[in-house]
Amino acid sequence: MNEITACTMDCPDACSLLISSDESGFIDLRGNPDHPITAGFTCAKIKKHIQRLQSTHRILQPMRRDGTHWKTLSWDAALELCAQKIQQLREEPKAILHIFG
Ligand code: SF4
Repeated sequence: MNEITACTMDCPDACSLLISSDESGFIDLRGNPDHPITAGFTCAKIKKHIQRLQSTHRILQPMRRDGTHWKTLSWDAALELCAQKIQQLREEPKAILHIFG
């Protein structure tokens, strides 16, 4: 069965996509042919999306640089660290670069 969804990449096109899966876990993601603008289109980024999501090389835990190496840390520790850094920067709001859009 196909489910209609939209691309979640940071891209203004917001393409309409069809996603389906079978019993083996195979997931198929493709452009929605019935959408008047998308018309079955998928760009190169989304063609590799499922492969990227299921990659064994995908980073699934927060990581922090420690000198020249990276160390994993828990989500709680990562969020706490972010909260601390943001709290420190509240004294000088211009120190935070806010990118929108
Ligand atoms: S499928 Fe490609 S072009 Fe369409 S919204 Fe996603 S990233 Fe953008």
